[in-house]
Formats: sequence, C-alpha cells, structure tokens
Amino acid sequence: MKVYRCENCSSSFLEKRSRCYNCRSDRLLEYDVSSGIVLDTVQLFATPDNLPETYYILRISSDGITFFCRSPTQIGEGEKVSLMEDDNSICCKAERDQI
Ligand SMILES: [Zn+2]
Repeated sequence: MKVYRCENCSSSFLEKRSRCYNCRSDRLLEYDVSSGIVLDTVQLFATPDNLPETYYILRISSDGITFFCRSPTQIGEGEKVSLMEDDNSICCKAERDQI
C-alpha cells in the first residue's frame, strides 16, 4: 500500500498530493507500508453487493497514519496485520494467520 511522507515535517498521507497540507513543502516521498496495528474493529452485516455478506472494518495505525481496512475475520485490538490492496480498497489479515 502506498503512503506519502513529507521530507520537511514528516507528516504522512494516504493520497498523493502536490504539497504537504501541514507545511506546504513539495518534497513528498512515496513509500510502501505492508503492516499496521489494529486500533478497533466493527463487524458489518449490511454490505455492498460485490462484497461478502459480513466482514470486519478495522481501524489501523501504521507509521503515524490511521486508516480503515477490511478483513474477512475478526482481528483483536493491538494485533499486527499485513496489508494488501484489492481493487480499490485495503484488505488486511492477522500476521498470526500466516505462520
Ligand atoms: Zn510537511
């Protein structure tokens, strides 16, 4: 998953920008983030047609930014997850599942 960081003030963003919203610098670096920590979880039962009937939305913290991702299984707060992009949303799975 791509993340952008300001070289000047270290602010991070998920969207590509031409300038940092914090300091207006145009020195933004693109880098990859592959894991994060779960802050909290919500289970969804009413989901869009192209997605499973139920899944979890997790709020993830990674490298100073917070964002949401989707998971087919429940993952507890404080657990580490691997991130991947699927179509245009972010998916994740618990790192414990990969061992
Ligand atoms: Zn900045």
